[in-house]
Amino acid sequence: MRIVVLAGGVGGARFLSGVKAWAGPGGSVTAVVNVGDNVTMHGLTICPDLDTVMYTLGGGNDRQRGWGRAGETWVVKEELAAYGSPQSWFGLGDRDLATHLVRTGMLAAGRTLSEATAELCRRWDLGVELLPASDDHFETHVVTENDGTMHFQEWWVRHRGAPGVVRFEFDGAATATAASGVLAAIAGADLVLIGPSNPVVSIGPILAVPGVRDAIVKSPAPVIGVSGIIGDAPVLGMADRCLRAVGVECSAAGVGGLYGARSSGGLLDGWLVDTVDAGTVVDGVPVRAVPLWMRDDAATAAMVAAAVELAGR
Ligand code: GDP
Ligand code: CA
Repeated sequence: MRIVVLAGGVGGARFLSGVKAWAGPGGSVTAVVNVGDNVTMHGLTICPDLDTVMYTLGGGNDRQRGWGRAGETWVVKEELAAYGSPQSWFGLGDRDLATHLVRTGMLAAGRTLSEATAELCRRWDLGVELLPASDDHFETHVVTENDGTMHFQEWWVRHRGAPGVVRFEFDGAATATAASGVLAAIAGADLVLIGPSNPVVSIGPILAVPGVRDAIVKSPAPVIGVSGIIGDAPVLGMADRCLRAVGVECSAAGVGGLYGARSSGGLLDGWLVDTVDAGTVVDGVPVRAVPLWMRDDAATAAMVAAAVELAGR
């Protein structure tokens, strides 16, 4: 079975790890990963969500922190701070830095982000194909109430999400195209899974790449979504604040409604919610309640099995 998964960073990576476990060694899993978090720092192209997925599936991630490399050191960050670098708020670890150096070097030599990603992934033996949603310039920006417009990373990491959000904007979305392989993977999938990633700033930007949403809507494969909201709160992160900013209730029903039913022009053929949200109703979408805590790969693989069953495959 060819499975395509839409994924952001930490939640997407955990989910993918379970999809990989469910699919087994012969499985075919393609991850289409958010690039809206991509940011340029010190002249380096940094792709936080791609790297989180790569490190997690490659077994090189820091499990406590959720992002970045295991056994990380922070010498360069300290030195940047000592120079008074205005960008020292961003957590650039020494090991992580090597990834950004290799990637930026390849981009400077004229390779695409997909090519650079494939090259970086060769080291890690992921067992999953990693595709950036787009190779083009694409950044999530936050229009704030009192502090102007800033990059998503600046809002979330530098200001710890404090500035009030008026709206999120996807800079580059008007002209970006889907990265090589993305539309073909969706068209050729047997199952499309929308991971429990943040619906507004992880899944939203993937769907905002021209052609991607349309490819999913038209895909012959069933599309099953997994709620990242359990009860009335995200398991981790800032999805509650993001949903509030786009006027959507922070609940499994709210997010299911945001994605919408395929039968009425939306995305979903099925929606998985946690058992505490049993009874959730989403117009036109079959809903199934199963435990959605991704404690380990076995628990997550059981979620995937439920998604496959809901898809009727
Ligand atoms: P980020 O890019 O690092 O913020 O990560 P993602 O957008 O991929 O994932 C963040 C989302 O994953 C959050 O909205 C969480 O609620 C969700 N999430 C994290 N862990 C779990 C879990 O164990 N179960 C479920 N259902 N959702 C989770
Ligand atoms: Ca992210």
